[in-house]
Amino acid sequence: MTTTAGCSSLPGDEYTVYVDPAFGDNYQTVVDSLHAWELVTPVKFHIKKKLALCSTGCGYEIGIKASTRAEIEAQAKQYGDHHHPLDVTAYDIQGVWSNVYLTYDVTKQAASHEIGHALGLHHTGYGTLMCATKDCASQHITCSDIAQYYELRPHLVNPTCW
Ligand SMILES: [Zn+2]
Repeated sequence: MTTTAGCSSLPGDEYTVYVDPAFGDNYQTVVDSLHAWELVTPVKFHIKKKLALCSTGCGYEIGIKASTRAEIEAQAKQYGDHHHPLDVTAYDIQGVWSNVYLTYDVTKQAASHEIGHALGLHHTGYGTLMCATKDCASQHITCSDIAQYYELRPHLVNPTCW
């Protein structure tokens, strides 16, 4: 089942994702992180190599911007709950649209974690990808993270983790 963009405030199953070409060599790191989520959940990303951020009312869009530390610090001040040492997600409606600010030297761990927030996921415990710091977070999407993806989307049945 696919959620139609526009009127819903439920987390989506399908997103248009704008990835900043300014990531350079790490453009592929970001794309690989998106594909990692597609491999383990039914989410579908339509990836566009373009810088585009949402201001308001975007339906199922994610903008991922290559950022300096200063830009990320400024965003983190505004969206304190989503502050990480290396990266930040600023979002208005969870799982509906997001702007993700990542450093130019982003790791797959950080990109995958922030994409998790863009999908509506919250922080979880030690050893999960969604653990709050890079030291406690897994390098990979874990069963617990997949379970959270499904919990947020009650119209889906989790076929893998229970
Ligand atoms: Zn986080």
